[in-house]
Amino acid sequence: MKISIIGGTGYVGLTTAACLAFKGHTVYSVGRNIEKINKINNGIATVYEECLSDILRSAISKGLLFATEDHQKALMNSSIIFICVGTPSKEDGSIDLSQIKTASEQIGESLKKKKDYCVIVVKSTVVPGTTEEFVIPLIEEKSKKEAGVDFGVCMNPEFLREGSAVKDFLYPKEQGIVIGELDKRSGDSLFKIYEDFDAKILRTTLRGAEMIKYARNSYLAKDISFANEIANLCRKLGVDYNEVKIGMEMDSRIGRGRFLNAGIGFGGSCFPKDVKALIAKAKSVGVELGVLERTLLVNEIQPLLMINMLKEFFKPIKGHKIAVLGLAFKKGTDDMRESRSIPIIRALQKEEALIYAFDPQATARSKEIFGDEIYYALTAEEALANAEACLIVTDWPQFSNPKLYNHMKGRIIIDGRRILDPENLSSSFVYRAIGFPE
Ligand code: NAD
Repeated sequence: MKISIIGGTGYVGLTTAACLAFKGHTVYSVGRNIEKINKINNGIATVYEECLSDILRSAISKGLLFATEDHQKALMNSSIIFICVGTPSKEDGSIDLSQIKTASEQIGESLKKKKDYCVIVVKSTVVPGTTEEFVIPLIEEKSKKEAGVDFGVCMNPEFLREGSAVKDFLYPKEQGIVIGELDKRSGDSLFKIYEDFDAKILRTTLRGAEMIKYARNSYLAKDISFANEIANLCRKLGVDYNEVKIGMEMDSRIGRGRFLNAGIGFGGSCFPKDVKALIAKAKSVGVELGVLERTLLVNEIQPLLMINMLKEFFKPIKGHKIAVLGLAFKKGTDDMRESRSIPIIRALQKEEALIYAFDPQATARSKEIFGDEIYYALTAEEALANAEACLIVTDWPQFSNPKLYNHMKGRIIIDGRRILDPENLSSSFVYRAIGFPE
């Protein structure tokens, strides 16, 4: 099939483009930044994801993937057009649909001249009703064509996780695939792309598909905040939350919930934004989502608990050298959006600490936020060698090696991700962690 991906230079768009080309489709990855487009055409991924560069290079060498700025050319040649543009939060928590608006108008303009039937697939995360009430009317207005007659429409939420995006896209058995369809013809066209994927496929309405994405992310975010509240209580009561977690997971009704890890909370481009957007959407129709409001509140408190723990040792923190291990919102990515490292570093700056940060992938993106206000070490060892205390902020596997901390100048470790086992550290270290008894 010939496929266009609008937003093909971003995390979801580029992964979708490279993976569909890997499956043998001809893919136009449509972007708006010429520098990024050139990079992609030269086989360089514009985001960090394991294996992404490899499958990208292979697709380009087979002549199956083309990055372009030319919407018209790409869309005129495609039978399926994915919208993968960003839907960031606005001040009030609702989603900013400006990128969706532009993409829909561009599609409408192209459809005006296009003779063959094609299907528009919204993959961006949008609140229930957006595809029907916003995307379709814009395309119809610009193209002067009718949805369900001249072109088809689907909503296909993306469930990939940054850090394992390529694997999640190509092998979605754990996540499943959801196809929201305007009508059977639209859904049948999109189904052809996924029919050989080893995963359950649920076909539903456009609104149903939109809601499933929000319900899933909100459910998982709620689990994280629940785990964090219980862990905070455990710490005060002298109970190790990690044991409690194992005990909880023994109950098959709870199961091996990977979202029961306690720590400094969730970040990234999805959970915070999606929970806020669902709350805002619910408010607009007079419904209160109290559980989710509390979920966000707990998430704001968690990272600052690390600073409180630090204050036990430094009164004041001012002038002390603190290592921050990890900047990305989680391991396996360079994404800094809503990373918990941001409130932590801002709080350390407020306290006038001297910050030595290290992240194996996210330094460049971190510089877009902090500029040269903090010192970026080239290795974890270098950050630690300078530090009187260390805050573990991202769960990169290399930070779980206890030997790493022998490089530390000081002896205070505050583990925001519970990736160290204090039993494996020499007794000279002072270990603090969320959910670990005081
Ligand atoms: P992103 O900001 O990394 O990518 C969006 C890309 O779209 C950018 O490169 C931007 O330049 C491009 N773009 C915007 N308007 C364009 C236009 N008119 N033409 C061509 N390119 C255009 O965002 P993302 O993280 O990839 O997220 C995209 C959507 O997918 C969001 O709605 C997000 O909520 C959802 N989502 C993201 C993830 C994730 O893990 N990142 C997972 C599931 C769903």
